[in-house]
Amino acid sequence: MSAIKDLIGQAVDRLADDLESISRKIHDNPELAYQEVKAAGWLADFLSVQGFKVERGVAGVETAFRATLDTGSGPTIAILCEYDALPAIGHACGHNIIATSGAGAGAALAAVRDKLPGGRIQVIGTPAEEGGGGKIRLIKGGVFQTVDAAMMIHGFDRWILHQDLLGITRASFEFRGKAAHASADPWEGVNALDACVQTFNAVSMLRQQMRPDCRIHGVVADGGAAANIIPERAVADFNVRGPSLASMWALYRRVVACAEAAAVATGARLTVTQHRDVYEPLKRNQALLDVFADNLGAAGLGEGPPAPDRLASSDIGNVSQVTPTIHAWIAIAPLGTAIHTREFAAAAAAPGARAGLLAGAKLMALSAVDLLADPARLAAMKEEFRGR
Ligand SMILES: [Zn+2]
Ligand SMILES: [Zn+2]
Repeated sequence: MSAIKDLIGQAVDRLADDLESISRKIHDNPELAYQEVKAAGWLADFLSVQGFKVERGVAGVETAFRATLDTGSGPTIAILCEYDALPAIGHACGHNIIATSGAGAGAALAAVRDKLPGGRIQVIGTPAEEGGGGKIRLIKGGVFQTVDAAMMIHGFDRWILHQDLLGITRASFEFRGKAAHASADPWEGVNALDACVQTFNAVSMLRQQMRPDCRIHGVVADGGAAANIIPERAVADFNVRGPSLASMWALYRRVVACAEAAAVATGARLTVTQHRDVYEPLKRNQALLDVFADNLGAAGLGEGPPAPDRLASSDIGNVSQVTPTIHAWIAIAPLGTAIHTREFAAAAAAPGARAGLLAGAKLMALSAVDLLADPARLAAMKEEFRGR
């Protein structure tokens, strides 16, 4: 076992320059959700060269792919790649590192394919994590039906193997009022922007009665046309998050009530449009976490200080509800660097990210080998998944 693990480590090191160069290319060409044509193409091409059978556009999603390495009958281990960027601030979530770390893990496994126990390694390209719900489409398309375990890493300012991810639902509140001259005849108008402002004020009061592991945040997406017109239309977009779907929906109903009250108070008409995708909370799997923890320790690495209040959401949560899943955070930026910032975007392309990229690739490849080689660990993981 240690021989194959040594070979995997050497394979990742041998590919390091290639992986870093793809990572930089993706970083320098930020593509938004479902538009990641270049990133998906580069990754699929790389995996094809490494000996994977590559299917592009799986589940009807143009920028998704599935690269498969088949070594006989056995379990299927999926390694997930994300590669979408954020509007305005580019790769501030470091998905270029997720992508290349996943591809590197796959490539290292392909390099030792003759020595791998029977099974399948699938490197799955999952677009549109930042709001587009790419993994939800892949789940609906059956991509995870035959997957026994799914794994991915995400860049962070420290190593944390498990961090809770919240369920999230999103809604748009459109208020319709009545336009009027804002100075000559303001009493003729119905101010839709006031309804928006009132909604924010009511939500701010609601926040005091909210549990600390829930989140509400919003923006005014349309605040009217000009200061001298009473706004006839205004739109507020809100995200509502909770640690369980039940708590998320309970809070969501209260946020909708805030908007309804604002509509009554101002006389505006409210239309609530709920976003079709809900990101589910991350279901923890201790048996899978233990596999990763063993390999992390063997690499001489340890987890950083816990950050239980830094709660985000991801469509990996939905994957974790259909198959045992791990979403491990790896250090690619100095401690204290927050994600979705320009500082994190810079860190994701800096030389300092290389070590995290390679360590993440090794961690996933080594853990995949453990799952293929040890039916007891695989069984424990599946048992735990079914039991909850
Ligand atoms: Zn993000
Ligand atoms: Zn992210």
